[in-house]
Order: sequence, then C-alpha cells, then structure tokens
Amino acid sequence: MQTYDLLVVGSANADLVVRVDRRPAAGETVLGSDLAVHPGGKGANQAVAAARLGARTALLARVGEDGHGRLLLESLRVAGVDTDAVLTGGAPTGVALITVDPAGDNSIVVSPGANARLAPADVTDAARLTAAAVVSLQLEVPLETIAATVRAAAAAGTRVVLNASPPASLPADVLAACDPLVVNEHEARFLLGDRPEAGSSEPEAWASALTALGPRSVVVTLGADGALVTAADGTSVRVPSPPVKAVDTTGAGDAFTGTLAWRLGSGEDLETAVRFAVRVGAAAVTRAGAQESFPTADEIPAPPAP
Ligand code: ADP
Repeated sequence: MQTYDLLVVGSANADLVVRVDRRPAAGETVLGSDLAVHPGGKGANQAVAAARLGARTALLARVGEDGHGRLLLESLRVAGVDTDAVLTGGAPTGVALITVDPAGDNSIVVSPGANARLAPADVTDAARLTAAAVVSLQLEVPLETIAATVRAAAAAGTRVVLNASPPASLPADVLAACDPLVVNEHEARFLLGDRPEAGSSEPEAWASALTALGPRSVVVTLGADGALVTAADGTSVRVPSPPVKAVDTTGAGDAFTGTLAWRLGSGEDLETAVRFAVRVGAAAVTRAGAQESFPTADEIPAPPAP
C-alpha cells in the first residue's frame, strides 16, 4: 500500500507581480500597481493542482525561513498537500519578479534562492520514493538533484513523470526513465536541438524524434489544441482539449502535468490519464493566476464532444 499517489519534487516560488504602463528602460524608474504576492513555482503548482482534485500528494522542495516560505507552506497545506518533506533554510525563498504590461505580456526575473539549494542528498531517501506510486519533476531545481531523484526512483521502481520546463539538456539515463516526458512546443524544439524534426511544424514529428532520445513515452502539450500522446513504439494519439474561454494560461502546464502524474499513480493508462489532464489544464486557463486558477473536481469541464 503506497502512502501517496504522487510525490512532486521541485520548486516553490513566491510570484511578486506588479502591473506597469510600460517597462522601464535601463537606468529608468517607472511606477506600477500595488504589489500582488502569489504562491507559485512549478513544483508547488503541480502538487496543489493534484491535491485540490483529491490526490494524496506530497511535495519535496526547499523554501527559506521567511514570509514567502510561510506563504507557500500555507497554500500547500490548504490545498491538502503533505508538506513534511518541504525543507526550510539555506537561502531566501525563491521569487519570480513579474511585471505585466497593458497588453498582458510578462517580463520575469527569477531568483531561485532556496530552490537552487535543493541538493541530491535532500531527495534520494528511497523510503520516500517508494511511498509514492509516481514521482513528478520539473527543471526549476538543480539538474544534479533531478538526476539523483530520477536514478533513485528508477532503482525503487517508482514511475517518473518529467516536465522539461524550463528546457535544459538532460542526461541520457534521465531521459530514458521518463514515462512520460512532458513538453510543450518550445521545450520539444529545444530538446531536439539541431535535429531536422525541430524545424517541423508537426507535433507528431517532434514526438517521434523525442521518443528516439529514449523516454518510455512522450506527451506534447498543444495549448488550446490539447495534447499529443506518443507511446514507446512510436504510435501517437491526439487528445483534444475542451473548448474554453482562455483568460490566463499561467500554470496550465503545471495543472496538466500534476494531474497527469496523479492519474498515472492511480493506475490509469497514459491516454486515459491525458484525456483527464487536458480537462484540468483547460479549467486552469479560465481563471487568472496559477494556483488560484486550479479547479476542484466539480469544476472540471466535460470532455470535448467526439
Ligand atoms: P504550457 O503552459 O506548459 O506551455 P500548454 O499551453 O500546452 O502548456 O497548456 C497545457 C494544457 O492546458 C493543454 O494541454 C490544454 O489541456 C490546456 N490548455 C492550455 N491552453 C488552453 C486553451 N486556450 N484552451 C483550452 N485548454 C488549454
């Protein structure tokens, strides 16, 4: 009997958001709106998305001993995430300094802070990894920590879901353990580098080339078009997203991947899990913000008509 459906290993950030009429040039000061502080970071977002839907979820992350860290712990607990494995101290809590212009475009500076101090020794406790059916990772914590987690999970027989965001080159054995590797269009092209498929406009071409890099399965998210699921044998299925009125896509990918990892941990096959996760991703774009936009189970839109 596993203690958790899902263990998320990754980042937790405070998002500090100010609206501006225009961005300052070098050496210039502009006045903006009141500061809004939101809990964020891809790891915390994934954990909150799954827990809000009822998943037994734990987060392994590092925050600072400061107000932002307490804000994050509180939002995790309210969502129902087990925070026993959230470490504190070593550096200030990671922050994303976000300015939003009237067109809705963001400029973001990230200070990784405590996320950069999440060390391999913090995450390789095999007992914790075997307590979860699935471990879900993203790339906002050090790559050596990701690699150590993936290797320990593989040794423990725990399924690995990895969202290669923000994109970075991954060791071959890390890629080989992903089941699935989850990428959006931009991340798919990055991982393909100078391979010819990176220049294709066809998600099927990216997915089959990504599969050749070693992952057991690949999921490419396609925004309003849903997702593409590709099994190890190269067969692909398009999964449409329910049509919704998009207000703010922040955190949609995190809601999608956290949900997908949970459903896989509950024993669903990959296509079935993606069919559910696209509905959660769609719900997340109908409201502003990241964690604030994630749905409860009764707020998920119906599947798209066949
Ligand atoms: P990311 O945020 O990582 O770039 P995507 O934009 O592909 O990822 O979004 C992730 C998922 O969220 C999609 O697979 C889809 O299910 C959902 N989604 C995103 N944008 C929309 C949209 N405009 N309409 C409906 N669903 C969406």
